[in-house]
Amino acid sequence: MQFQNDNEFKSTNDTPNYFYKSPPSGLVSINDFNIIAYERLQILYAIEINGFRFGKYSTAYYDALDNEIRKIRKDLTIKYVHLQKFSEDLRDHLSHFILRLCFCKTEDQRKWFISNEVEYLKYKLNFHDKISNSQYMKSIMEHENLNYIPLTLEEKEFLLKNLINSTPKSLNNKLKDKDTDILKVPFIEIPELIRKRRVYINKGWAYVPKYELIHIIIRRFRIYLSYILTYTRNYISKIKDKRLLSLIEGGEQMYNGAADNGKYQQKTISGDNLTSNDIEKISESFPLCMLNLHKNLLKDHKLKHWGRMQYGLFLKGLGLPMSEALKFWQNEFIKVISLENFQKQYSYNVRHMYGKEGKKADYTPYNCIKVIMGATPGPQDFHGCPFKHMDVSVLRQNIKYETNPFQRSKFNKISDTQIEEIVSLAQSSHFQIACSRHFAYKHNITMEKAPAINHPNQYFEESQKILVVQIS
Ligand code: SF4
Repeated sequence: MQFQNDNEFKSTNDTPNYFYKSPPSGLVSINDFNIIAYERLQILYAIEINGFRFGKYSTAYYDALDNEIRKIRKDLTIKYVHLQKFSEDLRDHLSHFILRLCFCKTEDQRKWFISNEVEYLKYKLNFHDKISNSQYMKSIMEHENLNYIPLTLEEKEFLLKNLINSTPKSLNNKLKDKDTDILKVPFIEIPELIRKRRVYINKGWAYVPKYELIHIIIRRFRIYLSYILTYTRNYISKIKDKRLLSLIEGGEQMYNGAADNGKYQQKTISGDNLTSNDIEKISESFPLCMLNLHKNLLKDHKLKHWGRMQYGLFLKGLGLPMSEALKFWQNEFIKVISLENFQKQYSYNVRHMYGKEGKKADYTPYNCIKVIMGATPGPQDFHGCPFKHMDVSVLRQNIKYETNPFQRSKFNKISDTQIEEIVSLAQSSHFQIACSRHFAYKHNITMEKAPAINHPNQYFEESQKILVVQIS
């Protein structure tokens, strides 16, 4: 890709973009480069959110995704009319390569990108399969040289009993259908089908019904993307063009995976290191997820593993040094266990969080997506995002409690109507929007001025900014 100041893009690349093996070649303005990347980010984000909301692969999930992707494309084309000169295929192709640059640096970014790109390919396969009766799949197979020869009708008839015995009952009729081709595939291509016991294997060959071919495509795509992102990460350090570098950084920040990149790495508040004694006071600016962990730690004097990780890394991101973190956790835990036990069982954890033990990784605080997607809290667990994980009545109580837990007179009292509005957003799986709304009501600011919350540490910083203005 090259950059120019007008908006002309001439694609000289006619390689189909199934696996995005070759980058498009041509000219694109910096501005359009940015908009196109943003469009794909919104699509990947919609895939993630709808997966949470409806459960992946349900009809409701695919329907919601269809609608949302159409809307994202339409809204962007209305806003930037000139984008119509790029076909959807070209935008798809371009944007994939742009985001590769933005999401190759850290393991978390690569994982997020691969997982959502894989889901996007599944969505496209499902969509195209509906409208073109496997033509899309067929063309990918040809393009990827996956020329598996179908069994003849006689061969299929001969193996039918074995095929049926190796397939879930619900698929037997589909399997018997004379139009269902059975392909002879090296068994290493389909570990997932073997794991799920959905396929007949004999002498190193798997006999795969054509409706299961998607597993081969998806596996290959995942492996390829993982390899290519690692390759891109090595390449990116050689990029010198400042405009491109700033666009890459902008792409990272749009998702705020930047948080995983150290944005909320341990830092100081007002230039001074935070001490364990300050935590109670500043907890007034905590988002609901961290406040929930904080108050339960004060109540029970303990937190389970994920709670300690989520809260401990958040505090580290606020600027709590390791020595103070040890003091903070110790002060609470020794109310219910001996000092010796604390040192044996828990102080290692704290040092590990700060990169002083184990593989010495310098862990960063979790962003909202990570909290929302992370391990579901079990009994006596307090981690997670209250807007996703709390029972509705407990969520209501928590918002109410939070308006006046420690005489927080600095904050606005959230009314019952406002609480219902927040709860209703949470119930429709708009977790981060619910959190932003909560922020707006708590700080008594308009929705337009409220930040879009995507990181607990960002919530804290934005809250502190408002408090400083109010105090001065
Ligand atoms: S949306 Fe983010 S900041 Fe808000 S409660 Fe959930 S995880 Fe915490």
